[in-house]
Amino acid sequence: MTSQRSFLAANWKLNPVRMGEAVDLARAIAKTARACAERVEVALFPPFPWLPSVARALDATGIDLGAQDCYWERTGAFTGEVSAAMLSDLCEWVIVGHSERRQHFCETDETVNRKAAAALAAGIKVVLCVGENAEQLDAGRTEAVVEEQLRAALRGLDPKLVASSLVVAYEPVWAIGTGRNAEPAHAGRTMGLVRTVVTRESGAESVRVLYGGSVKADNVTSYVELADCDGCLVGGASLNAEEFSAMIEAVAEAGE
Ligand code: PEP
Repeated sequence: MTSQRSFLAANWKLNPVRMGEAVDLARAIAKTARACAERVEVALFPPFPWLPSVARALDATGIDLGAQDCYWERTGAFTGEVSAAMLSDLCEWVIVGHSERRQHFCETDETVNRKAAAALAAGIKVVLCVGENAEQLDAGRTEAVVEEQLRAALRGLDPKLVASSLVVAYEPVWAIGTGRNAEPAHAGRTMGLVRTVVTRESGAESVRVLYGGSVKADNVTSYVELADCDGCLVGGASLNAEEFSAMIEAVAEAGE
């Protein structure tokens, strides 16, 4: 663990379907997150339509809010898109480059770079996701893939903003939603590489690095205790208030 507070980011994906459930989930998580706020920084990433109501539920809790994607143009004829500039009125964070967007929505390294640049310019902090798929893992290409994704995503970004407002989540695609979490040794090695590549390529003095992929209450400590891990990006397990609260508590204890 390199920074003072570990960061736990909750990616709710396309859940929950009802707004009331989203608000209840946020309120339940907020109870534990507030109690552990000295040691753990928490951010929730609900679907776009729930952002305003979850924002109200989180008001004065110290818990951050983020969106799961953004578009790089500020405004214009782009039906269905939500710009980073619009999000800046609603939330502090945005995820860019999640593997599900790369896989299902034609996200490329170039669009990831545009989105990251637009978000930083709009004053929004970025969780940038990178990671190899199963085939690339088996071919021993993890480092090459992650390095290439990072180089492309960071192109032209202001090093000061990278240091202050960008977090990289190393998320092996084969570990996301599969229950097959990465061996901490593999995750730790790759997060070390992420840190080296980001500081070298962007000129940033430092960067925070997270692990994501089937993280649960019973394995989260094995990641946050790694030298190069500043926290975790959590998908499925963050939809269960009890499980995610147990994760927050486990991370807080690990930081004592
Ligand atoms: C994610 O969606 O970023 C993720 C890591 O999902 P899960 O925790 O379900 O593997």
